Amino acid sequence: MTLQTISDLLQGQEGNRPAIGAPGRDWLDFAGLRDQARRVAEALHGAGIGRGDRVAIVLPNGPEMAAAFVTLAQAAVTAPLNPAYREEEFAFYLEDLKARAIVLPEGYDGPAAAAAERLGLVVLRLSVDPSEPAGRFSLKAGGAGGECDAGAPGPGDVALILHTSGTTSRPKIVPLSQANVATSAVHIRDSLALRPEDRCLNVMPLFHIHGLLAAVTASLSAGASIWCAPGFDALKFFGWMSEARPSWYTAVPTMHQAILSRAARNRDVIQAVPLRFLRSSSASLPAQVMTELVETFDAPLIEAYGMTEAAHQMCCNPLPRGSQKPGSVGVAAGPEVRIAHEAENRLIEGTGEVVISGPNVTPGYEGNPEANARSFFEAEGRRWFRTGDQGAFDAEGYLHLTGRLKEIINRGGEKVSPLEVDGVLMDHPAIAQCVSFALPHPKLGEEVAAAVVLKEGAEADEREIREFAAGRIADFKVPRKVVILDEIPKGATGKLQRIGLAEKLGLSEP
Ligand code: ATP
Ligand code: MG
Repeated sequence: MTLQTISDLLQGQEGNRPAIGAPGRDWLDFAGLRDQARRVAEALHGAGIGRGDRVAIVLPNGPEMAAAFVTLAQAAVTAPLNPAYREEEFAFYLEDLKARAIVLPEGYDGPAAAAAERLGLVVLRLSVDPSEPAGRFSLKAGGAGGECDAGAPGPGDVALILHTSGTTSRPKIVPLSQANVATSAVHIRDSLALRPEDRCLNVMPLFHIHGLLAAVTASLSAGASIWCAPGFDALKFFGWMSEARPSWYTAVPTMHQAILSRAARNRDVIQAVPLRFLRSSSASLPAQVMTELVETFDAPLIEAYGMTEAAHQMCCNPLPRGSQKPGSVGVAAGPEVRIAHEAENRLIEGTGEVVISGPNVTPGYEGNPEANARSFFEAEGRRWFRTGDQGAFDAEGYLHLTGRLKEIINRGGEKVSPLEVDGVLMDHPAIAQCVSFALPHPKLGEEVAAAVVLKEGAEADEREIREFAAGRIADFKVPRKVVILDEIPKGATGKLQRIGLAEKLGLSEP
């Protein structure tokens, strides 16, 4: 049977197997999750919310957020929003995505509630009884419901609306259909060979595609369980590992690095809870960090390449130990992945813009015809989506990214890959984390700069770091400026921000 909707993914799973867990809570099993979906549909329909209606979800990270997504998506359109937004941001997104209703925790009267009231949305209050299993909740609507379509959403109906992370520009609204989400979950499940015995420890924010698809939906589509931490916290990570006993986790590189910095103190946990694999996605994982993770956890590190517009996964490194390539995002893992000319609408060999085509790709940005005109084109009888990333396939079909097109540093016409510069600096024994970026320059347009964080107790200065780089890369790629920081600014999803970093750090021309 082809799995075309979120409800299809959950139908066949064994009822008494664990589905959703959380710290100090009993497990919700698959029968309980299906029952929860029925109760949620009833509550929505009672409030006049049904198929095609858009429901924003503003909840703290945790089991209710995971369960709210997979259950609401079986009756309506879900739109998880970052709970850290301010009232104006909520108002903007709620209006932009045409929300009819919003799910808020019982008793919460923060900025999302104020924005929802301003816009006259139906407010659905979610309440939890902690003695009940994780992910079990009830929903109550404030007012009486009107008419709604109580039919089950079909493959072409929108299931999930997210916005991109905003790493390169103002976040864009991305609608994903039931079929987009279901096929992507199956791609991820198959790449990782997930089975019912697997358990994911989720630390990823659930208002972002990575956690929603790779951790939650892919796991559940395999009949596997997911244990939901309240968010990422390197200090608590190993305690969660002891309690959850996961077989894997997925994270962004900055989280993996924070976990590594605590690993030496937690050898006992690492030994007691062997992982089948670790997964990294959403940003480039330095090869050095990958090697360290593999040695520390004695398990393969599977780096995958994902984006919101693809309902997450595009490429993934193969699973068998030793077949992962450090510095590569792996092989096409779901959609067709090809290289296109950066300025012309045609597919090419060699280095260029990564483009994708397949059943997991969004039909297009909402309310943004300019972005759609730029992002989609037809070639070889298919519709291709431009990822904005630059890269090339090697002879074995592994994709190597050079960076985002907008982040490639243009030094007087010489293009410098920030990922290449990062890779060299990460080889410096004192450097724990680094991000290279463009520094505006009066003559060259842009000059190479880098921000670094040093390893605990390590010492190095700007001159020495630049000399180290000079011995390893061509002169024009060597950062003219290196700033040493305690922490590098990150976006809401834990991504390092290259664009606008010079300005943020108050750096002027060299
Ligand atoms: P915006 O599109 O608003 O600028 P964003 O691109 O960061 O934000 P996401 O959809 O969360 O929004 O991220 C997708 C991007 O993340 C990809 O296009 C790519 O640049 C980057 N990315 C994802 N996985 C990897 C990876 N394994 N290695 C390098 N980069 C990655
Ligand atoms: Mg993007």
